[in-house]
Amino acid sequence: MSQTDYDLVIIGGGPAGLTAGIYASRARMKVILYEKTAPGGQVIISDWIENYPGFPDGISGYDLGEKMLNQAKNLGLPIEMEGVTSLELSQTQKVIHLDSGKSVSAKSIIVASGASPKTLNVGEDKFRGKGVSFCATCDGPFFRDKTVVAVGGGDTAVQESIFLTRFVKKVYLVHRRDELRAAKILQERAFRNDKIEFVWDSVVTGMDGLFAVEDVHIRNVKTDEISTIKANGCFIWVGITPNTDFVQDSLEKDEWGFIHTNGRMETSVPGVYAVGDVRTTPLKQIATAVGDAAIAAVAAEHYVEGL
Ligand SMILES: Cc1cc2nc3c(=O)[nH]c(=O)nc-3n(C[C@H](O)[C@H](O)[C@H](O)COP(=O)(O)OP(=O)(O)OC[C@H]3O[C@@H](n4cnc5c(N)ncnc54)[C@H](O)[C@@H]3O)c2cc1C
Repeated sequence: MSQTDYDLVIIGGGPAGLTAGIYASRARMKVILYEKTAPGGQVIISDWIENYPGFPDGISGYDLGEKMLNQAKNLGLPIEMEGVTSLELSQTQKVIHLDSGKSVSAKSIIVASGASPKTLNVGEDKFRGKGVSFCATCDGPFFRDKTVVAVGGGDTAVQESIFLTRFVKKVYLVHRRDELRAAKILQERAFRNDKIEFVWDSVVTGMDGLFAVEDVHIRNVKTDEISTIKANGCFIWVGITPNTDFVQDSLEKDEWGFIHTNGRMETSVPGVYAVGDVRTTPLKQIATAVGDAAIAAVAAEHYVEGL
């Protein structure tokens, strides 16, 4: 076990973590960022981003993630590809345990581990990679000229369903209510799109197929009527769940497992901050994640200075 004492350890390399890294590097803190899978976070699986300022024509999620990463690297942020497995937190010393078995210590921590897509728990696990997907950008091209089901009614479900229509013959967009939650501009585009058919007031109850998805079963929540859609794929966008396994009970969370913070992004442990999708916040977007991270990085800098 090696121990290096950092001013700040950032957990997660999505928009929030990279922004915190940009601020901490410019403040010349002794900082390191740990990322478990791929820097960029959820942004790199988003097709197109048009609500993040600075890109008047929009930008692909992949390009935006890469730009954020390059900006952080150019400012000298050290990034290590390692997952954090657990934390030991006290007011004076924080220990961060890593996948490799190594541990590091820090005066402050910013938790920016984001969130992962929620599942439906209707047996879709067996069809992961065999028709079930959470990422249109990654998997959309595999469904060229096929029929797919998409599930959800928020921004992500509608935006990604529109993207799917570049490839597929038809998208059945199944939503449990009779109206969408998505931004009006996305709704207008979806309603104009001939390839999208809405299946209102309905939930997916299961799926079948010999080797891959062939049938998606749905139930109308108002009439209880059961029906089946013949489809080769099922894209699921019904919300997110926070990536907090490694946090265990060391920080206070809300009933859904998102980490509680105050307006300075301070958690229940002094010197530990939570930012972006992993924290309790009314809006989970890139713009809010980077805003949280800027606040937390400056707060962490002041905290370390004050020790
Ligand atoms: C398909 C899709 C489309 C979207 N479209 C838009 C859009 O158009 N506009 C918009 O504003 N937002 C959009 N969003 C939401 C936006 O991507 C998120 O709000 C944003 O990425 C949150 O940033 P974050 O840094 O908090 O978390 P994330 O992006 O989730 O990044 C967290 C990072 O932490 C890493 N991590 C997790 N656990 C650990 C660990 N134990 N150790 C180390 N690293 C760890 C993860 O691998 C990940 O890279 C979209 C999301 C999706 C899925």
